Amino acid sequence: MMPCKNLLSDEPDSCMIRVGVPKNLVGVANGKLEQVVETDSEKIFHWKVRNPINIYNISFNVGDFVKLEKEYQDIHNMDHKIQIYALRYNQSVADTFYNQVPIILKKLENMFGIYPWWEDQCKIIETCLPHGLCMEHQSAISMTDAYLYNYKGFNFTLIHELSHEWWGNNVTAYDYGDLWLHEGFANYTEMLFLESLLGKDAYNNAIHYFSNSISNKRPIIKPYEVRYNCLVHKDDEDIYNKGALFLHTLRKQINNDSLFFNLLKETQTRYAKKKFTSNQFLNLVNEFTKQDYSLYFDLYLNKNIPPTLEFQIDKTQKDSNILSYKWKNVFSDNFKMNIPFFVGEQKIFIYPNSDLQQVKFPKSKQYFFDISQFGYILFKEETNK
Ligand SMILES: [Zn+2]
Repeated sequence: MMPCKNLLSDEPDSCMIRVGVPKNLVGVANGKLEQVVETDSEKIFHWKVRNPINIYNISFNVGDFVKLEKEYQDIHNMDHKIQIYALRYNQSVADTFYNQVPIILKKLENMFGIYPWWEDQCKIIETCLPHGLCMEHQSAISMTDAYLYNYKGFNFTLIHELSHEWWGNNVTAYDYGDLWLHEGFANYTEMLFLESLLGKDAYNNAIHYFSNSISNKRPIIKPYEVRYNCLVHKDDEDIYNKGALFLHTLRKQINNDSLFFNLLKETQTRYAKKKFTSNQFLNLVNEFTKQDYSLYFDLYLNKNIPPTLEFQIDKTQKDSNILSYKWKNVFSDNFKMNIPFFVGEQKIFIYPNSDLQQVKFPKSKQYFFDISQFGYILFKEETNK
């Protein structure tokens, strides 16, 4: 019995799930296992979720599962056991594979604050969703049976799904139109994880890699109050990578990492177990920075073309080249972005607006723009003179 509307804005404040299965199988669902009742013909597993839960997160799995446990001490020094439900024939591969969970959890807790559902435990369940899909079912994450290490001993989908425990499950978009608040943050978490594990170069490479995957077909924020018939349409997939690059851009323009990460933690604290909107996020950014970022939000989230820098390199001079530049599609001078232009080892900051500006640099030097240094924009190079 679930007296809820099928909307993000409506959640049960708790939930009880009973799964009756043949005696040789195990039924696993969200929350904590309260008891197992055995009848003549079946076993009934009683699971209880003691927290608000998005209805799309409520799920159960039935299989010949074995339970594995990983020790974990949270950032408040409390001891926990992370539980892994793997299919019996994958027990040994799963046991090794999930040694990464405590490492991931510790990094995410350090970034965003304490894991929100210790009361309901942290479980990972092996599932056979089609196409190797995984899903962030609250306190009972579904992971594919593929057991792949993407990079340096980690599975980045696992990082993504665990990140949703904060971004999506703890802080939930009020409306499906703001689903980027789940997916953009989860994809950006993958980049932040890479940065904390391997440093700035790995982060910068990921930024470049993701920037090539954006289609700009539709704005990130979709119309509100619409009953979408699928969670993410293929033309809306920018909510993942462009959403992440928007957060990268914001961080670079704020140019104060401790403030940026405090902002993320404060979002998690202030909106814990609550609904959240893009506008509330904008208000928090403005409150923290004491600046107005509404033009950034509008350009990146409501338009399907990011700021576009029109530029031209004049190479006809004898000793120097001349970079001419202006915004192609930013019509307010209140939109301020500083962009480093690299000439050899030297960084030259340019401040584009809607008027054509120029900068001269030595002809002998290599030159390039590096988006990991400032954020995601498009470049439109005019033909050389
Ligand atoms: Zn996701």
